[in-house]
Amino acid sequence: MTEAEDFQDIRDGVRALCARFPGSYWRVLDRERRYPGDFVRALTDAGYLACLIPEAYGGSGLPLAAAAAVLEEIHKAGCNGAACHAQMYTMGTILKHGSEAQKQAYLPEIAAGRLRLQAFGVTEPTSGTDTLSLRTTAVRDGGCYLVSGQKVWTSRAEHSDLMLLLARTTPKDQVQRKGEGLSVFLVDLRATEGLEIRPIPTMINHATTEVFFSEARVPAENLIGEEGRGFRYILDGMNAERILIAAECLGDARWFIETAGAYAKERRVFDRPIGQNQGVQFPIARAFAQTEAAELMIRKAAARFDAGAACGKEANLAKLLASEASWAAGEACLQSHGGFGFAEEYDVERKWRETRLYQIAPISTNLILSYLAEHVLGLPRSY
Ligand SMILES: Cc1cc2nc3c(=O)[nH]c(=O)nc-3n(C[C@H](O)[C@H](O)[C@H](O)COP(=O)(O)OP(=O)(O)OC[C@H]3O[C@@H](n4cnc5c(N)ncnc54)[C@H](O)[C@@H]3O)c2cc1C
Repeated sequence: MTEAEDFQDIRDGVRALCARFPGSYWRVLDRERRYPGDFVRALTDAGYLACLIPEAYGGSGLPLAAAAAVLEEIHKAGCNGAACHAQMYTMGTILKHGSEAQKQAYLPEIAAGRLRLQAFGVTEPTSGTDTLSLRTTAVRDGGCYLVSGQKVWTSRAEHSDLMLLLARTTPKDQVQRKGEGLSVFLVDLRATEGLEIRPIPTMINHATTEVFFSEARVPAENLIGEEGRGFRYILDGMNAERILIAAECLGDARWFIETAGAYAKERRVFDRPIGQNQGVQFPIARAFAQTEAAELMIRKAAARFDAGAACGKEANLAKLLASEASWAAGEACLQSHGGFGFAEEYDVERKWRETRLYQIAPISTNLILSYLAEHVLGLPRSY
């Protein structure tokens, strides 16, 4: 297990790619709530989104630490990986639990950029964080499953060909153990009838939607792994998701600290740079300390994940610490900019809105604290 590898070539390549997508590009998309299609295409063409897919299936077979470096650099450059990051970790469910036929059918196409697997349908309006209470059902009907129900916050569904869907195949009161009875399906969003996608306007440009299923026919061959074991498969992928999202937070924090520092050195009020005031310096320095600590935890979590070691504690800690570091850095950056922090042209208000998400999604801070309290510290289960 090594934490030393820094993937400098990958970082340099991503940085060069991101330089073609400056703040002005993101500002227009943000204002018009448009999807960064060119940016995603460029990342796909350069192979970065397929970095975790094994070489045998057309990807580059790199470790999770390399994918984390890609996302960190994207965010550090002022860009945003949320338009396409899901492909990196949802693919893992097919890789780990799919049949060889499914891997052969989908992974090379995803690696080549001919198929987009960007939508991940877990959250529902009624059950929220309580995933085991989700109500979308999939009922076997001959060679198909009939899917009925509703998902919410299904990001990128309009910009994806496939959706990884979690649905109930056995009623909750008929399962032996509470984690059973849910199944994972690969839904072809282009070819499935009985499916409606409605965009949700939000405070950030995130292409998120709600998806309604009304007896949508999903071929039985699109079931991933065994029926009833889907919750376990999804949990498996969540450590990867948390580590990668933490890397995005780390990139955001670096961008905020760099931007805040540059402005604080240059902006003069009362005949001196504002950065000479400790009231301006200290929040930036404190956010820097939080960011450095979060980086260590992300590297540790990724190294454990890549070594196949248990990493639930580290993945959750990384996500918690990094989301708090990026928020602290965002606050320091906005405050350092004074009124100009509110002007779109500085990109600070946009990044500040964007980085706030990570304390809520993909898992809220409270639920991470619950995990640490219960599973790491042995305190009584709270829910
Ligand atoms: C922009 C955006 C994009 C998203 N993209 C996706 C996606 O692509 N796919 C997907 O499936 N989901 C997605 N989500 C959903 C996201 O994962 C959930 O919003 C998140 O898990 C929280 O669930 P909830 O919104 O239902 O909050 P709730 O579960 O209703 O919780 C509300 C608040 O109560 C707190 N809370 C709840 N229960 C407890 C407890 N037992 N102890 C302490 N506090 C508690 C939570 O921490 C939270 O702060 C996205 C969300 C957003 C906002």
